[in-house]
Amino acid sequence: MRAGRRHRRALERHRVQTLMAEADESPAELVAVTEDKYEIWQKGRVAFVLPGTPPNAPDAVRSGIAARKAAALRGRCDCGATRDTHRPGRVAFVHEYECPASDQAIVAAWDAWKAGT
Ligand SMILES: [Zn+2]
Repeated sequence: MRAGRRHRRALERHRVQTLMAEADESPAELVAVTEDKYEIWQKGRVAFVLPGTPPNAPDAVRSGIAARKAAALRGRCDCGATRDTHRPGRVAFVHEYECPASDQAIVAAWDAWKAGT
C-alpha cells in the first residue's frame, strides 16, 4: 500500500473514532421510523440506522434486537464487545458467541420463530 493511501486511511479512521467518541457522550434521539421499520437515531453528529422490532416477534428476537440497538447506541455491549472502527466506512461489533445481540443468537431466534418452534 502506498504511503498516501495509508495516511488517508489513518486520517479517516481517526475521524470516525472522533465522531463516535463524541456520539458516545451525546444523548440518543429517535428521529424517524422509516416505512420499512428502520429506526433513525441521532447522537451528536452521527446518525444510526437500526432495525426496528417486529411487533409480533417473540421475546428471544425482541431481546436480541434490543441488545444490539443498545450496543450500537452506547458503543459497547454487556458482553464486552466494543465498536470496531478499523475498516474505513464500517463500524462493527464482534459479540461473544452467547450474547443475545450476536448474529448467531438473533438468526437462531429468528429462524425458530419463523419455523414455529
Ligand atoms: Zn454483545
